[in-house]
Amino acid sequence: TPCRIVLIDDDPAIVRLLKKILTDHGIQVTACPTAAAGLEVLEQQEWDICLLDRGLPDSDGIEICRRIKAEARFDARQVIMLSGYDSLEALVEALNLGADDYITKPFHSAEVLARVNASRRVVEMQQQLVEMARQLEEFSGRDDLTGIFNRRHFRKTVARAFDHSRRYHRPLSVALIDVDHFKKVNDSFGHQAGDIVLAEVAKRFMRSVRSSDYLARYGGEEFVVLLPETQLGDALTFGEKLRAAIACAPVPIAGGEALPLTVSVGTASLDHTQFNSAAEMIRAADQALYRAKRNGRNRVEAERRRTQRSTATAKVQPTA
Ligand code: GH3
Ligand code: MG
Ligand code: MG
Repeated sequence: TPCRIVLIDDDPAIVRLLKKILTDHGIQVTACPTAAAGLEVLEQQEWDICLLDRGLPDSDGIEICRRIKAEARFDARQVIMLSGYDSLEALVEALNLGADDYITKPFHSAEVLARVNASRRVVEMQQQLVEMARQLEEFSGRDDLTGIFNRRHFRKTVARAFDHSRRYHRPLSVALIDVDHFKKVNDSFGHQAGDIVLAEVAKRFMRSVRSSDYLARYGGEEFVVLLPETQLGDALTFGEKLRAAIACAPVPIAGGEALPLTVSVGTASLDHTQFNSAAEMIRAADQALYRAKRNGRNRVEAERRRTQRSTATAKVQPTA
């Protein structure tokens, strides 16, 4: 993708000149004449480098720089200050407040280009680091937020467990768990509170599973447990234990607050139905989970498809 620059400067002559130099070199430029307009673009658009004038009509550019640098989501971005104050103090102040580079007016176009290109290399390197961290997490098999296994690790584990159980005719169950109305937690208390809640949910699940069971984060607010040597009836009892572990006590978030929270659980068992693949078994658990949601949430439901047995009500009523 081409480099994207937000240029915040109120001098039309400078804007015209910089726009020409930069776009001639394949760089996308969005120009804003005020701090207010600039902040709006920085919030709403994707960008890599901000070229920022100090003497804006509605603010000192340094204030915008400070705000950019205070936000974690702007980590892999660069800020270059533009300024007419040709003094050492002004330069030192800007760099100390987090600016990545500083250009004094009047400038030479070759200098601007060289500094922008240097910043570009830093942005690219930072973006590569972020991507590498993501890959390291994925391949480590662990989920960063909760510390339990991640989806990639689960995919490999469930395939092996499924093949083993089928070959040796051993029972195997799976429980899928989804936090009820989790979107509301994010919407009312923020994403960070949502993350704290997910970590606590995982912690309670960890205390509920045996060492021979296998717990992983399946997706955003979804978890999965593999239960070897476990038939559907016992899987239901286990699901009920997980449900109760969450419903029993509100989950603390920051600031001394605690939220009442519930989960829904769907279970399926290889021993109960002869599935042809792990994916089929998980799909059955997912359908049971969907039924638990439809039937009012905070409850456990089991898969219904039967090829071996035809009776038994596989359902645990919520106790709360
Ligand atoms: P339901 O009871 O039907 O499951 O409702 P819900 O709101 O839980 O379901 P929905 O799937 O609509 O919303 C899930 C939300 O979970 C949406 C998404 O933003 C949030 N989410 C997913 N992953 C994370 C995460 O890692 N952290 C936080 N804070 N939120 C997440
Ligand atoms: Mg969900
Ligand atoms: Mg949910």
